[in-house]
Amino acid sequence: MTTVEVRHHAMRIGGRDVDTSERHPILDPNDGSVAATVSIGGIEHVDAAVAAAKETFESGVWSAIPPQERALVMRRIAAAARAVADELIELELSANGATIRQATGFHIGYALAHFEYFADLAESYEWQRAAPISTFPALSQSVVHREPIGVVGAIAPFNFPLLLALWKVGPALAAGNSVVVKPDERTPLSMLEFARIAERAGLPPGVLNVVTGTGQVAGAHLAGHPDIGKIAFTGSTQVGREIMRLASGTVKQVTLELGGKGPTIVLDDADLDMAVDGVLFGCFVYSGQVCVSGTRALVPARLHDQFVERLVARAKTIVLGDTRDFDTDMGPVIGANQQARILEYVRDAESSGATIELGGHQPEGERFERGFWVSPTILSGVRDDMPIAREEVFGPVLVVIAYDDDDEAVAIANDSEYGLAASIWSTDNARALAIAARIQSGNVWINDAHQINCQVPFGGYKQSGLGRELGPNALDGYTEVKTVQLDLSAGRTAKPFGILLGHAD
Ligand code: NAD
Repeated sequence: MTTVEVRHHAMRIGGRDVDTSERHPILDPNDGSVAATVSIGGIEHVDAAVAAAKETFESGVWSAIPPQERALVMRRIAAAARAVADELIELELSANGATIRQATGFHIGYALAHFEYFADLAESYEWQRAAPISTFPALSQSVVHREPIGVVGAIAPFNFPLLLALWKVGPALAAGNSVVVKPDERTPLSMLEFARIAERAGLPPGVLNVVTGTGQVAGAHLAGHPDIGKIAFTGSTQVGREIMRLASGTVKQVTLELGGKGPTIVLDDADLDMAVDGVLFGCFVYSGQVCVSGTRALVPARLHDQFVERLVARAKTIVLGDTRDFDTDMGPVIGANQQARILEYVRDAESSGATIELGGHQPEGERFERGFWVSPTILSGVRDDMPIAREEVFGPVLVVIAYDDDDEAVAIANDSEYGLAASIWSTDNARALAIAARIQSGNVWINDAHQINCQVPFGGYKQSGLGRELGPNALDGYTEVKTVQLDLSAGRTAKPFGILLGHAD
């Protein structure tokens, strides 16, 4: 019998590999096998990473160089990462159970493209802006500067490990900050590798540090660390509340990207072929483990039965299986606990009167006996007050809710503590836009789902988050604003613009 060697990944702190004697296994959700091991960082490792980041920030090797130079280095990093994209894809696949199509296009493809977008922002960002000369309260000229904050802490979830970490690392680096990342303990491999790639491509050691460890220990210590000026978090709403509390101790800047319970409103004029595919795409991509998943399909009562029938027929064609096979549509869920939790939600809904139209169990066959699998599940007869209709299940579970008119559809869509993403399916643009205007959600897609465009802001209303990532203003959240005012009264200075903007006039 041959033994497959399991690779160990140390942490990256201050440009050095840092290891611990205790190791955490990374399980491949496909079959539950140990894909790799990682160090389990604790309080002292977070302290060391923050100290390294602080020292590097204060040295100015990254924070004080022109933004154009930072952009150049960031583009070199993206190019170096592209050169080993297959390796990054494999690291992502082996830990988080995405299919190869998703890992290639979305998990790694988007991550690197978005990182390049943040490099572009370093060049185009308005780092300083001269305000008009003012005569009140004194004759004066002000310049508004944007400066890096210092050390940024980034805490990422399991579902898009590199992408969501880089949504924080990218703008933080573009703005000149140093960063400490705490990836999810189940999926840290791609971020660890990215940090090494970045250093080889010219990022000074200590600018980007990665500490692996649990959320309760390493994550919590990072979120409350007095030397961190900003904490950027993506994860559950429950942990987001805790991050906010921990950050309040030293009044840090906070960005939170949290949970969702996305409604998909199918209007009665929708193209039903497109809408059926769209609803399934919205819910089942990456086994429903996406914050913007459309997990509640709101369907006109008169179309309900035929729509459910068509959904079920189409969902039966979804191919589950080996995630490294390009023909596979859907993979497993992240772990055994999550698998059990999802199936518990389904059982609970069934006992409250919902009908399981499809799935609701582990898929049949030897292939699915190991690993963490849930078959595509569709429930009808779901009432808006059932936990399955209100709470984030984070699995391949679609609930169908009937509505009588547009007002009721909007009311059900908005009756949620979340407000991250919604979809509307219609052949009438004006009608769909009018509905979109009434939806309490940070993102609304009309006749589409899951479209993440790095050039526009992304984030949530209500308990889905605080602040926005992406878009042209993405660097705002990673900078401090400093207004410098030069008094011009009584002839105190003769060259206001030149002095303030640092060049001769
Ligand atoms: P999670 O909240 O359990 O964990 C997220 C991260 O927080 C992990 O790195 C974890 O180790 C860390 N953590 C856990 N407890 C902590 C604590 N007490 N202090 C500090 N850090 C702690 O979330 P998850 O299960 O990994 O991810 C799924 C959740 O993330 C879902 O709710 C999903 O909607 C949300 N999410 C949101 C977005 C968005 O952009 N809004 C994107 C992806 C995922």
